[in-house]
Amino acid sequence: MGNRCRLRTAICHGDSRRYGYPGLRALENQGRQLLQATARSLWTGNENLADLDPELVSIIKKEKDRQVHGLELIASENFASKAVQEVLGSCLTNKYSEGYPGARYYGGNVYIDEVEKLCQKRALEAFRLDPDKWGVNVQPYSGSPANFEVFTGLLKPHDRIMGLDLPDGGHLTHGFMTDTKRISATSVFFESMPYRINPQTGYIDYDKLRETARLFRPKLIIAGTTAYSRLLDYKTYREICDEVKAYMHADMAHISGLVAAGVIPSPFDYADVVTSTTHKTLRGPRSGMIFFRKGKKGVDKKGNDIMYDLEKKINGAVFPALQGGPHQNSVGALAVALKEACSPDFKVYQEQVLKNAKSMAKVLMDKGYHVVSGGTDVHLVLVDLKSKGTDGARMERVLELAHITVNKNTCAGDKSPMTPGGLRLGAPAMTSRGMKESEFVRIMELLDKGVQIGLKAQKHSKTLKEFREVVITNEEIKGQIAALKEEVREFAGAYPMPGFSDH
Ligand SMILES: *Cc1c(COP(=O)(O)O)cnc(C)c1O
Repeated sequence: MGNRCRLRTAICHGDSRRYGYPGLRALENQGRQLLQATARSLWTGNENLADLDPELVSIIKKEKDRQVHGLELIASENFASKAVQEVLGSCLTNKYSEGYPGARYYGGNVYIDEVEKLCQKRALEAFRLDPDKWGVNVQPYSGSPANFEVFTGLLKPHDRIMGLDLPDGGHLTHGFMTDTKRISATSVFFESMPYRINPQTGYIDYDKLRETARLFRPKLIIAGTTAYSRLLDYKTYREICDEVKAYMHADMAHISGLVAAGVIPSPFDYADVVTSTTHKTLRGPRSGMIFFRKGKKGVDKKGNDIMYDLEKKINGAVFPALQGGPHQNSVGALAVALKEACSPDFKVYQEQVLKNAKSMAKVLMDKGYHVVSGGTDVHLVLVDLKSKGTDGARMERVLELAHITVNKNTCAGDKSPMTPGGLRLGAPAMTSRGMKESEFVRIMELLDKGVQIGLKAQKHSKTLKEFREVVITNEEIKGQIAALKEEVREFAGAYPMPGFSDH
């Protein structure tokens, strides 16, 4: 008999004394004890995480150690501030608020409306936008949904889009497909035609883009990148869009922090819609934003005003078309990050990100690495390892074992996406830990050491699978990786970590 059942039996017989069943008195006492025990063990929701779930706590502890003692060079990552993390873990997580400020489908949203309006106001301020000319939706759950919301709002199924091909530095959501498969939903529900970089220069081939756009006549062209180290020529994108009557959609996911700080050109001067993630260079929570033009677009032949109609289309696409309740803890945390992004310190930080990325590129080139496009204008560097006789997949693995975290990345001329030729290295995360140019010189020396170990491991292996075995079984290689890892841990661990000072 289960406890609950036994309890019910005892309570049912609670009148036993009155009816004089002495045998049942014991059962009655047992019932009372059970009731007390149940009350004591009731889950209140105020237990310490460490008491409630030591299993998860121990995993988080390991991840924290990895973050603190590793060299984080993934270009899309960063460390959110303590203030941002505090709002993410606040009571804002409890509220349903489908709809928009002032027009919700749930009651009790007085304060949530304040949160969302504050976030919208700060988003426009952070990018120096006139609220009469630009609006913003801060509800997208992340960058990928934000992009699909733009396509859903502005296009009909099977309308045509053009984005930078993924192997050339574009994002999955920009319509990625292969010869045999439509990978991104964008390529499933819309017709996607990629544009590319010039493999010789490493820069986007705008002439080809223009030529293809004239033939393909897309309804929307995406100006945005995930692995590209140069500035985008927004003016040229605008001209091409005007020529073929396409929307210009800038996806500034990677660079929005640099744009907010005003250290690189802004897409807002030219684009119709701008999407962004909020957790990359912007240093906020994981979330997304969509900016859209509003107000007067121009004048028709009869002299009447033509107005933008993007606000309704975008807002309707986010909710109710693709999302339900917004994550208001993320919206609140984003409001904090945007406030941080308006501070003079944020500009100093972003300037340092640019300096550090340039420092990385220079050391690598001095060491004989092939840096794609010969340098960088932004927060990241692309290294083509093919000239070193190796590839990104192998080096990513060796470096990971030494606690240096990087991305393998496709470079022009790569055949297999599983063993791409290069690495993508970003400066934002380690810059958030207070590192400057000289520290990035040291990081590149450590990375080069890792590559040398990797090249040695390659002599003991043929396939990628064998290589992955060698780096964890060959005693000599293992020893060298362990020594490098110790060096990395000691170096990284000495720097402050935003968000949690107690490491
Ligand atoms: C990272 C990125 C996204 C997607 O963001 P998620 O938050 O990972 O969904 C979209 N576009 C570009 C250009 C990106 O770099």
